[in-house]
Amino acid sequence: MNNFNDIIDKIKQVNGDIIITSHVNPDGDAIGSGLALTLALKNLGKNVRFVLQDNYPSNIKFLEKIDLVEVYNADENYTPKLVICVDSATAERVGETKMLFKDNFVINIDHHISNTLYGDLNYVEEISSTSEVIYKFLKHCNIALTLDIAEALYTGLVNDTGNFSHDNVTYHTFKMASELKRVGANSSKIVREFFNNKPLPAIKLLGKAMFEMKFDEDKKLASHFISYADLLEYNAKKEDTEGIVEKLLAFNEAEVSLFLREDKPGVIKGSMRSKHEVDVNKIASIFGGGGHRKASGFTSTLSADEILKLVLKEM
Ligand code: 5GP
Ligand code: MN
Repeated sequence: MNNFNDIIDKIKQVNGDIIITSHVNPDGDAIGSGLALTLALKNLGKNVRFVLQDNYPSNIKFLEKIDLVEVYNADENYTPKLVICVDSATAERVGETKMLFKDNFVINIDHHISNTLYGDLNYVEEISSTSEVIYKFLKHCNIALTLDIAEALYTGLVNDTGNFSHDNVTYHTFKMASELKRVGANSSKIVREFFNNKPLPAIKLLGKAMFEMKFDEDKKLASHFISYADLLEYNAKKEDTEGIVEKLLAFNEAEVSLFLREDKPGVIKGSMRSKHEVDVNKIASIFGGGGHRKASGFTSTLSADEILKLVLKEM
């Protein structure tokens, strides 16, 4: 494992383009940490681009510099001198932008226990969010926190801590939040825009999930599956199901929740959350996924019934 000095030294040495990337279907932490690092390195005078396989979700468009996010174009000839990957536990998680790793120096900055240390330099620390890691990095390097950077980082914190409700929140997380407020981050705006700003299909799908939830009495698993046909019927985007997996876990008898969404015919994205002891990182790993002990995800081509059966067997 490397330290922040190794990383900033490498960044300062580089003459040419730096490309920052992150995982497919980017969430608030992927965008928040990546955008904050992009802005910070630009402020150091670096040529930086933030390139992702998938565009940002619409609940994040309020971020001032969100237009810096570029969607990867397979026809373009990218010639970075350095690639920095944030919030991605494996090289595969970045999807098509993995092409950028080829023949290039890669720095991997992340907070997932399942991280495979795929970079030429790796900094992985199991704290609340990659945004908290980037915050520590910027402080360590004495790089100023501007308002844009602060709001991007705050969004990442809110995403990965469930607005400071998960047990990945520490004294240091609150200290960071406090400093972001001091810089001017508008926390109530961020939470409103990010969580409480859903289009009608999202509201309807949440209601459907609550109403139709399955519960396994024996294993205390609350689950729900949304098929591709449902997404079409409700005219919903993938991002419109964000938050359902947490709401399933709100059931007082549930220990674990499982939310399955058929993103394309035959391809299911799974999300899991755990209230206490059950390690859902381990369960996701049987499908080649990962994440954290209390929040994990995976993608599978098995049917929803088969996935449910395997999850119950593993619990
Ligand atoms: P979510 O269910 O919100 O998509 O993800 C929960 C956690 O699991 C996040 O930390 C996320 O990065 C991780 N995660 C989600 N899907 C995958 C996946 O397919 N592979 C791996 N390795 N991690 C995932
Ligand atoms: Mn994260």
